[in-house]
Amino acid sequence: MDNCLFCKIAAGQIPSNKVYEDDQVLAFHDIDPQAPVHFLVIPKKHIDAPAALTGEDAPLVGHIFAVIAKIAADLGLENGYRVVTNSGEDGGQTVHHLHFHVLAQRKLAWPPG
Ligand code: 5GP
Ligand code: ZN
Repeated sequence: MDNCLFCKIAAGQIPSNKVYEDDQVLAFHDIDPQAPVHFLVIPKKHIDAPAALTGEDAPLVGHIFAVIAKIAADLGLENGYRVVTNSGEDGGQTVHHLHFHVLAQRKLAWPPG
């Protein structure tokens, strides 16, 4: 999609610090990390938000979680991690291309702010 930051990152038009890539997804370090490990996993195809997901996206979302588990194992995150996806204004979404935050290597508070 034109003028979408994460579509441009997925296309390599804007550089990112890549963690993982395959034909469907890209994972890269967040530019403003909120934990010692903080990366984002995005589908390469544009989806606005979690709220825009449909049943047709189920294989893609399942793949994303499998990729997260693989990256977490590769990075040695045996102590755990948190996956967050923000949707819409109240959810705190600032980039309108579906993305999953993965945060790790510090004790994360609950409930979130
Ligand atoms: P949201 O607030 O939409 O849930 O998350 C967007 C995330 O994208 C934020 O954590 C923000 O730091 C990150 N971000 C915004 N612009 C860039 C960028 O140009 N590069 C990278 N790597 N991360 C970005
Ligand atoms: Zn996009």
